[in-house]
Amino acid sequence: MIETINVDVAIVGAGPAGSAAALSCHKHGLSVALIDKAVFPRDKVCGDGIPLKTFKLLEELGFNEQDLFKDGFKINRLKVYGPDHHVTTYGGLTPDASTKSGCIPRKAFDNALYRRAAAICRYNLTGYKLEAIENGANIQTLRVRSLKTKSEQTVVARAVIAADGANSYTARLLKLLKRDQAHHFDGLRWYFKGKRFDSSVHLFYDKRTLPGYVWVFPVARDMANVGIMINKKHKKNTGATIRDIFIDVLESNPRLKAVLNGAEPLDEIKGAPLPLGTLPGSRITDGVVLVGDAAAFINPVTGGGIYFAILSAMKAADILAELLGKNVPVSKQNLQQYEHWWRQTIFPGFFYSDRLKKKLDSERFARLFFWLSSRFKPVANYFIMVYGRPLPKGALRHPFFWLRVLMGK
Ligand SMILES: Cc1cc2nc3c(=O)[nH]c(=O)nc-3n(C[C@H](O)[C@H](O)[C@H](O)COP(=O)(O)OP(=O)(O)OC[C@H]3O[C@@H](n4cnc5c(N)ncnc54)[C@H](O)[C@@H]3O)c2cc1C
Repeated sequence: MIETINVDVAIVGAGPAGSAAALSCHKHGLSVALIDKAVFPRDKVCGDGIPLKTFKLLEELGFNEQDLFKDGFKINRLKVYGPDHHVTTYGGLTPDASTKSGCIPRKAFDNALYRRAAAICRYNLTGYKLEAIENGANIQTLRVRSLKTKSEQTVVARAVIAADGANSYTARLLKLLKRDQAHHFDGLRWYFKGKRFDSSVHLFYDKRTLPGYVWVFPVARDMANVGIMINKKHKKNTGATIRDIFIDVLESNPRLKAVLNGAEPLDEIKGAPLPLGTLPGSRITDGVVLVGDAAAFINPVTGGGIYFAILSAMKAADILAELLGKNVPVSKQNLQQYEHWWRQTIFPGFFYSDRLKKKLDSERFARLFFWLSSRFKPVANYFIMVYGRPLPKGALRHPFFWLRVLMGK
């Protein structure tokens, strides 16, 4: 028998975006069905790097930083290595000593968010996969199936938040956001264990990975997340797979070998895609808003997406709460404010990062850039400002931006 349930908002995906969306909707008094094909705790291939600003958002949703860090590792230094192994060190990623940036294995981090969301949602449909959707300005009908019992369920909602990740099935069903290799990275992750790591994260811009990089992010005193983010051009040029390149860099980059010396791989290499924020196309349609990776909100130079996933989910919930509260249709036209918001607030930062990414595609530029950055503070400051911050529109044309680059503020 097919059962039907009715809610204000159906949320597809219970990762950071979906869980944050559920908590935000609940804060606004909206009833939620939280749908995820996985059963939590579940793994997610990632670098596990959680930027400081993410904890600020999570505080708004009632999370305590100390609780989240029970399963993670705080960091206070970033080291960036160029193709010629020149090192730029950024000490104290936060102005005060109580740094909140850090690395938390996604299995634990996502589970902490999910548990809270599961406690407040009206219907918890984890273990259910979205199979079909009919959308409209007033009513959305979703067909989901239990992966365990194979039973089918119909969810009728006034609106849908699609938070179903990089391969968003919702986006595909609704023919939103066609994936494009020009706006895409592939990533691999491998956990290493067995040596004492200090509180530094390391980025290796090796000539074989440009404009991507290999990272070492410690997730515990004796364990690190090691990974690579790279685009497909390497395969075209050399025929080598991403895995081949990853292993090659791990075996031959002298600085990387020194950082990992004494550590051993813990598990298998796992991969996942990174759809980048410069991907053109609308993130809305009648009744449906895409958030997080489903909306391709990943920084093109850092590969960071957790912050944008939570930010976009909270914004989508705010807008839906306003529309549903006024009883106006959640038509594409009325959802334009979401479209306007991400284009004005998130996109400019992606745009500047993308410009740096394109330059880093050239080995000559990367050699010069990282040599200069290891010697001249303003160059190092420029990198960290474009790398680490969502810059507002017009930032690079503004004299204050360059003043801050010179002063390192
Ligand atoms: C190798 C790699 C390294 C990265 N490193 C970092 C990093 O260090 N820091 C950072 O900030 N970001 C990083 N990112 C990006 C980050 O992982 C994503 O931006 C983040 O996971 C987005 O969260 P989300 O909630 O949108 O999607 P997800 O976390 O992917 O969650 C999507 C959920 O949707 C569910 N789902 C999918 N399809 C269906 C369906 N049909 N029906 C029901 N449920 C479905 C999935 O089971 C999943 O639980 C990295 C990404 C990769 C690939």
